[in-house]
Amino acid sequence: MNAKLKSNIESIRQRIADAAKRSGRSSADVRLIGVTKYVDSEMTRAIVAAGCDELGESRPQVLWEKSAALEGLLVKWHMIGHLQRNKVKRTVAIADLIHSTDSQRLLKSIDDAARDTAKVMNVLLEVNVSDESAKHGFSLNEIDGAIEFAAGLKHVAVRGLMCMAGLAGDVDDARREFGLLRELAEARQSGLPANVTMDELSMGMSGDFEIAIENGATMVRVGSLLFEGT
Ligand SMILES: *Cc1c(COP(=O)(O)O)cnc(C)c1O
Repeated sequence: MNAKLKSNIESIRQRIADAAKRSGRSSADVRLIGVTKYVDSEMTRAIVAAGCDELGESRPQVLWEKSAALEGLLVKWHMIGHLQRNKVKRTVAIADLIHSTDSQRLLKSIDDAARDTAKVMNVLLEVNVSDESAKHGFSLNEIDGAIEFAAGLKHVAVRGLMCMAGLAGDVDDARREFGLLRELAEARQSGLPANVTMDELSMGMSGDFEIAIENGATMVRVGSLLFEGT
């Protein structure tokens, strides 16, 4: 057992619980997704042993490799990075949730692949809230169109929204952007198609996960902080 990893996870979970409490929620309302993109399969296995069983990867091939390497362990895999359409099929077979759905064409590919594996794929719509051209995601005014499009897909279930805070790393910007994502979801709670809910908000990383939780995050994606000092 890697003691440092274990204490990192415990301290992150404590900070999650404190932030949830400040926002009038319970720690059970916020899931920790451990982002393992910085480490190899062995270290990824150690993270699971240390108590984090929901893992996020930003590159499809690495997700495939690690899920094979960790076969037999009870892990939920989260695809959190840009997904090219030619990598959809294998990813759909493995992932529990695809956070980074950023176009209607990708939604369609996911639907096709999920149909072939007789699965309904849970996805989030990635929103480019800071409207930076370097980032993926639907723009704010494309979300309604994406929801409408998803309504016609039988093997996709939209569970909510995902965003990354602006690349500049400014705390006030992050707070505003997380607030925007939350408002976007809240404004769409009623009249949604049967296969769409806005229950999940995936936002917040090592540097800003507490701000994200205070603004309604239900999943935080934490990488570097997990491995600090290991
Ligand atoms: C790398 C990454 C994270 C984790 O970032 P840290 O700052 O290391 O916690 C979260 N989300 C996405 C999409 C990432 O690519």
